[in-house]
Amino acid sequence: MAEVRALCALCGSREGADSLYREATIRLGVLMAARGMQLVYGGGAVGLMGVLADAVIAAGGRVVGVIPDFLMQKEVGHRRLSDLLITGSMQDRKTRMFEMSDGFIILPGGLGTLDEAFEIITWKQLGLHDAPIVVLNVGSYWDPLIALIGGVIQGGFANRSAADLVTVVDSPDAVFPALEAAPPAARPVLTSHL
Ligand code: AMP
Repeated sequence: MAEVRALCALCGSREGADSLYREATIRLGVLMAARGMQLVYGGGAVGLMGVLADAVIAAGGRVVGVIPDFLMQKEVGHRRLSDLLITGSMQDRKTRMFEMSDGFIILPGGLGTLDEAFEIITWKQLGLHDAPIVVLNVGSYWDPLIALIGGVIQGGFANRSAADLVTVVDSPDAVFPALEAAPPAARPVLTSHL
C-alpha cells in the first residue's frame, strides 16, 4: 500500500481531440486538491498540463512546476504556481520531477508524454524506484500503449510481470484507490540479463 503525497502528472501540451480528456483532467485536479495531494508536473500553462494545474490551483491545492529554460516561452511557463523550478535541460527536468514525487499518473498526451512515461516505467523495471504508476485510460486513449506492452511480453522481450509495472484505470475517481493498491515492482529486476 503506497501513500502518495506528491503525484507527478505526465500529460499533453495539447488538449487532444476529445473533450473527454479535458473533463477527466479537471476532475483529477479537483480530487487531488481535495485530498491534499500535491501536483508535480512540467510547468506549462498549455494543453492538459495547464488544464490540470489550473484545476488544482482553483480547488485550493498545491502545484509545483518544473520546466527547462528553453521551454518557458514555448510551453508558456505557468505564472500562478506554488513553485516553478527552472532547469537547464529536459533531462534535469525529468530527474527533478522524479525526485519530488512518490507516485505517477499518465494522462492522455503526445510523444513527449510517451517519452516521460516510458522513462518512469523502465526505471521501475530496473528497480530504480518502486512508486505506483497509474495510466488514466480515459476514452480508451491509451489502449494502443497497453497493447504495445502486451505485444512486447508476447514477443518475449519482457517478463510477464512487466504488465504489472503500471495500473490502468478508466476514470479519475479510480486513480486514488489504484495508487494505494499498486503492487510493488517484482524483485529481482525484470530485465533478465541484469
Ligand atoms: P507532448 O506529450 O508531446 O505534448 O509533451 C508533453 C510534455 O513532454 C511537454 O512538457 C514536453 O516538453 C515534454 N517533452 C517533449 N519531448 C520530450 C522529450 N524528448 N523528453 C522529455 N520530455 C519531453
